[in-house]
Amino acid sequence: MSGFLDGKTIVIMGVANKRSIAWGCTQAILDQGAKVILSYQNDRIKKSLERFVPDDLDLIECDVSDDANVSKAFEEIGQKYGKINGVIHAIAFADKDTLTSGLVNTTKEGYDLAQNISAYSLISVARYAQPVLNNPASILTLTYFGSTRAIPNYNMMGVAKAALEANVRYLASDLGSDGIRVNAISAGAVKTLAVTGIKHHSDLLKESESRTVDQKSVTTNEIGNVAAFLMSDLSTGMTGDVVYVDKGVHLI
Ligand code: NAD
Repeated sequence: MSGFLDGKTIVIMGVANKRSIAWGCTQAILDQGAKVILSYQNDRIKKSLERFVPDDLDLIECDVSDDANVSKAFEEIGQKYGKINGVIHAIAFADKDTLTSGLVNTTKEGYDLAQNISAYSLISVARYAQPVLNNPASILTLTYFGSTRAIPNYNMMGVAKAALEANVRYLASDLGSDGIRVNAISAGAVKTLAVTGIKHHSDLLKESESRTVDQKSVTTNEIGNVAAFLMSDLSTGMTGDVVYVDKGVHLI
């Protein structure tokens, strides 16, 4: 298909299943003509992907909990595909106790794990992707409103998202002279695997839907379309930004 991403190659990290925000991004980016490479966390996720991902999408393993994996994945990407035009980082994790116990009860281990996977990994991805990124290129991550407001039950993930958004600004400043932009989409709540880890997540989803401007939650397709724009040269004027794609939830 032909579109505003014709000729671009984009790496998308974080598709777990068809509900994943990263899958909404994948479809929108394919619709605009790009080649897509998906990275997956482990064999369990790979098996899930093999059930619905078309054969012509390449899959590369990358568990971001270890820098060596991130380095190896981008080396492999460089060797197989040459220079790429963008990376989408749609990855977050906190263990169940940390997510459900209230921030005041967060252990050091729980804090470190959530920060490592959900915020530090963007730095690691940017560092190891840098040698294979073209000029211009785009890095995008996914964040949530709980970074700036104390959203009930979002707990430690809100702290990790605040760090992630600061990472976006500093990385944008570090990498700007190489023509690499770094932005985040602050997505509205959508029912994905990650959300089900949040205590009373159905209340969060309902509350969020009721606060949209038209009482209809944002879809992963709508998030994906903005991701496609941010991957494209139409957005070369934007870097270090957090763009809300939440149907107005943040307004109220
Ligand atoms: P999801 O569960 O579909 O995706 C999360 C992904 O993170 C999975 O693919 C998982 O394999 C990956 N992951 C976790 N640990 C990893 C590791 N060590 N190495 C590599 N990958 C790892 O859920 P989602 O909601 O699509 O989440 C994608 C991003 O969007 C996350 O950053 C999430 O915080 C963010 N986000 C989600 C919502 C929402 O309401 N769903 C709202 C705003 C932002």
